[in-house]
Parts: sequence; structure tokens; C-alpha cells
Amino acid sequence: MIVMKFGGTSVGSAERIRALGARVRERLDRRPLVVVSALSGVTDLLIRGAHAALRREAGQDALLRDLRDRHHGAIRELVAEDTVRDRLVGHVDAVLDELRVLYTGVHYLEELTPRSLDAISAVGERLSSEIVGAALAADGLPARALDSRTLLVTDDAFGRALPLTVETETRLRDAVVPLLEGGTVPVLGGFIGATRDGVTTTLGRGGSDWSAAIFGALLHAEEIQIWTDVDGILTVDPRTVPAARVIPEVSYDEAAELAYFGAKVLHPATIKPAVEKGIPVRILNSLHPNAPGTLILGAAAGREGEPRALAFKKGISVILIAQPRMLMAHGFVARVFDVFARHRTSVDLIATSEVSISLTVDDARTLPAVEKDLAELGDVRVLREMAIVSVVGRGFVRHAGLAGRIFRALADVNVVMISFGASDVNISFVVAEKDAERAVRLLHRDFFEGEPR
Ligand code: ASP
Ligand code: MG
Repeated sequence: MIVMKFGGTSVGSAERIRALGARVRERLDRRPLVVVSALSGVTDLLIRGAHAALRREAGQDALLRDLRDRHHGAIRELVAEDTVRDRLVGHVDAVLDELRVLYTGVHYLEELTPRSLDAISAVGERLSSEIVGAALAADGLPARALDSRTLLVTDDAFGRALPLTVETETRLRDAVVPLLEGGTVPVLGGFIGATRDGVTTTLGRGGSDWSAAIFGALLHAEEIQIWTDVDGILTVDPRTVPAARVIPEVSYDEAAELAYFGAKVLHPATIKPAVEKGIPVRILNSLHPNAPGTLILGAAAGREGEPRALAFKKGISVILIAQPRMLMAHGFVARVFDVFARHRTSVDLIATSEVSISLTVDDARTLPAVEKDLAELGDVRVLREMAIVSVVGRGFVRHAGLAGRIFRALADVNVVMISFGASDVNISFVVAEKDAERAVRLLHRDFFEGEPR
């Protein structure tokens, strides 16, 4: 079987839902299980409504009307048969009535607990899964919506609940496996679950990818497809380098590395359950359904020693601490790090020589205090408005020539600091913020835009 997860924009309108049905139909022989997000923007709206209720602001009526119109509209366009339509409209109205009561409760109690917020934000997926299930069925597919709260069992850490694997696996075995075996396409809402006692929980914002990975891992899927609105993970941010290309294959470690730099396609932590079981995760664009997308694999992907992607992060400060007496001294590095620990400031890159240490931080708030304490240990210099540029790939330490090629490509860009060898999946260096884009463009041209070497 495979899992096909569709994000908010992929279920954002009747037209998008119809396209979703076409994608499912093409893969019927692979026994798909469909996981859907709320209609685009709905979760945000639900949460905003909750905070407005807490502040005792009016406006919940308008919000409820908006939600009602949007979901009723989708039903009208997707489902022709009266009895089915009536049942769906009834479901939407009942769930929205519940939402109204929840908002009223928040308003009068002037209290919004994580538990009530979960009940409120789960509404989007409760509605979208029913509508998508019915739309697929209306389109002649053997689809059936199930309430994820009866399947995904979690602990009671509301707002960031953790799945209880054994219980969830049992529920899936009882309620989902027979459907899949009978050729039915189950349609489940992502992001939501319930405690053993049936109290609604959520996995945290963006949690639908995680739901898809959990279901896929427990059902031993052969593949998990994340259908979104971009072509995959790119070699670089296309706003900086328009020639950015889709990476066909990337390892989990590389994807995790890129996420630190803000690659927004998906958070690798969310697909960990799948990767741990060796299940490939494919990112696909529901607007370009025939594009190959990006395949994320737990183990090796592509060639070793070849850069896979470039990333950069601005707003970095470099701190240089020089202490001539450090020569042959011990305990100096520990004292330096102790200062950062005391000020709860995390350090990213580090380079040391016999008598000095350079390191980077991306949080400038504690810098003045850190600087003051460090001054007791040596001469301190701070370079602000710096950027980390990172070349991400695999097997870097074992392959010759890469560092040379990188710094040759950078030509006249002034490199302030280099970190190489701490991990096998990246080479990072620091340049002035104003040089970051140019550095990235030069590297992209050299590594990704030429003839394959
Ligand atoms: N609808 C939820 C959110 O917007 C979960 C998801 O889409 O992944 O956070
Ligand atoms: Mg999402």
C-alpha cells in the first residue's frame, strides 16, 4: 500500500479536490490510503477565532459563516446526489455547532486551555476528511472517510501530542487493514488524534505530514507521497538563484540539514517514523502532477562527495576570542563555552587555532552580556551582519577536491571562517551578509548549472 498525503492547498477548493481524485485514481492498484489537511487557511482561522473569543471580541458568527460557506460550497460542487449532500451538509453543520459552543465556552470562561484549543483546531481536518471522502466516492472511487480520532491514539500532551504506537497499530489493524485489503481507499484527516479516553488532541502545527508518516510506518507502506504545492526540495532558494533545480534524491540527513536553513517544504522530524522503517518519502507537486518530485531516502542517495544543495542564513554574528596565553593552556575552551551556556546562547559553527577561537551565534539578543563575560577571558571581537553559507551533500570527508572546488568558485568573496569535517554532510563557511547571495550564486553556477561532471 502507499500513503498519499495532501496539504491544505491541495484540498483548498472543489477544483483541487477533483484533481486529488485523479491522482488517487492513477494509483488505485497501489492501494492508497489518503491523508488530508484542513482546507487551506482553515486551521489558522480556527485558532484566530479562539484567541478572539478569549479576548471576548465579537466576530465568531462571521467566522462560522465563512467556514460554513466554504465547506458547503465545496460540497455543492463535488457531490451531486441529494442524500449524500444532505448527510455531508448535516455533518458540517453539526461540527460547526460544536465549534460555536467551544468558542462560547472560551468567551465566558475567559480561558483557552491547550485542550480546548486542540478541540477547536481539529475541526478543519474533521470537515476536510469527510468532504474529500465523499467527493472521491461521488467520483466513482471506492473511498471512505474515517475519523482519525478513532485511529491515532496519542498521549495527552495537548497541542503537541505524541502518538502511542502500539495502540494506534492495533486500531489500524482492526479498522483500516481490512478496508485496504478489500480495495477501499480510506480517507483520514492528518494532524488530529485522541487520547485513550477519546479526548481530541493534535500533533502540533503542520502535523499532517507526521500523521502520514505514522500511518505509513505502522501499515508498512511501500512509499509515502507528500502532495504539496512546490516541485520538491530545490538545490537553492529560487528567490536568490532563479536557476534553482529540483533535487531528484536526497538523504534524510541532508534534508534535515537543509531544514535548519529554513527549507520549508517539510520538516524532516515529521517523517522520521517512515525513514526509520526504510520507507521512501516522495514530495510531489499537485499542480505539476507529472513532475518527478524529490525522493527522500533514509540511507544513501545520489553520489557521495557531490554537493546536493546550497543554503544560507543571514543575521549571524561571529565572535572571535584571542588569548595568547592559551598556548598550551587547558580548560580555556571550557571556560569560553561556559559563558555561552550561562547565557543560554547556542553556538553554531566553531573554529579554533592555538591561541584563538571563532564561533557563530544566530541570536544577537544575549550578545552584549556574552561579550562582557568573554572579555575576562581574552581579547574579544564581534563581527555582525554575517551569513553562514552551507554546501550540503554526503560523504564530504571521504572525498578529495571538494573544498578546493568550493573556494576556487568563490574567487574574490572574503571568507571569514570555515567549518569542515564536523559532519559528513556539510561544509559551512561565513561571509559578510552583503556577500552571501553572490557567494551562493557563484557556487550554484559552478556545481549545478554546468554540464554534469
Ligand atoms: N492543518 C494543520 C495546520 O495547518 C495541519 C497540517 O496541515 O499539517 O497546521
Ligand atoms: Mg502543511
